[in-house]
Amino acid sequence: MSQDWSRRHFISAAIGTAAGAAMLRPGIAAEPDDPSTVRTPHSAVVIASGNGLAAVRRAYELIGQGVDPLDAAIAGVNIVEDDPNDNSVGYGGLPNEDGVVELDASVMHGPTHKAGSVASLQKIRNPSKVARLVMLRTDHELLVGEGALRFAKAHGFAEENLLTDKSRQLWLDWRERRSEVDAWLPPASQPTTQHSRLDWRAAFTYGTINCLALNERGDLSGVTTTSGLSFKLAGRVGDSPIIGAGLYVDNEIGAAGSTGRGEANLLNCSSFSIVEMMGRGMTPVEACMEQLRRVVKHTERRLLDSAGRPTFGLTFYALRKDGAHGSATMTDGEKQVMYAVADGAGTAARPSRPLYSGK
Ligand code: ASP
Repeated sequence: MSQDWSRRHFISAAIGTAAGAAMLRPGIAAEPDDPSTVRTPHSAVVIASGNGLAAVRRAYELIGQGVDPLDAAIAGVNIVEDDPNDNSVGYGGLPNEDGVVELDASVMHGPTHKAGSVASLQKIRNPSKVARLVMLRTDHELLVGEGALRFAKAHGFAEENLLTDKSRQLWLDWRERRSEVDAWLPPASQPTTQHSRLDWRAAFTYGTINCLALNERGDLSGVTTTSGLSFKLAGRVGDSPIIGAGLYVDNEIGAAGSTGRGEANLLNCSSFSIVEMMGRGMTPVEACMEQLRRVVKHTERRLLDSAGRPTFGLTFYALRKDGAHGSATMTDGEKQVMYAVADGAGTAARPSRPLYSGK
């Protein structure tokens, strides 16, 4: 089946579904068990990871003022990047194992199908803004480390110390007991120890903001920004700056992004795969759930518990061109995993659907 055919097929199916839903009652749930809502094509909607309520609110307001969906989404996540109390992103983000904050981010603009990314960027609190400039002002897609910093400084970004007292204390606490838990692994020839089967959710903190935006013209964009896995090896790059893994947008189909263990996404091209599954007719939640199953299938034993469930967290977010959206997460722990939504009905936290429930 050619991609053109499948896209045309998807778009007419989606419009048909949306029109049908609108005839019943605008905003009615597409399927009773699906948290996505299908609206008339192209009413604006912004979604984000659970830490993005303020971000989606801001991005939605800006889209209402006619701001490009990518610029709106970036302005939204800048709130979180600037927040010293969010230890997962930008200023105050948790550092690598040497105590140095290294940030990753990507942006993707649906209408032009252009993207920009930075990885292992130090000393600049808004990597998403630098990623946008990589997209607009270079012939490249990804800049890393020292080169990314020099590029940011060339564009007038100020260097600053991104480690807050709180994030330094968290790092110090980890460092003082790090013989128990770090990201170094023994050679495969050595027997698996308890150490290497550690519970990643307890040992390390993931945290990121992914934000996906759709405007009333039906144009999509997305951004993912993070300080990455806490206490990672210096130079470690996760999925967030990698187009197709931590973020992907196809303006004819939809957008997807993720938070959680980046290595799992890098090995499964998760965001690209979710968008392609939506292109073949799956709802956002179905596509996110199916991708979680693929990740589980490909997960090495070291990272599985005795019931065969991954010991790491992973959450996907998807927004389809017709405004349907959804999220799915690997495991709901004691706290339900939520994602943020802003649309004509206001701003709300919605549950991500868990692949595995409870403990
Ligand atoms: N996905 C990010 C990474 O692996 C971390 C996160 O989302 O928490 O770098």
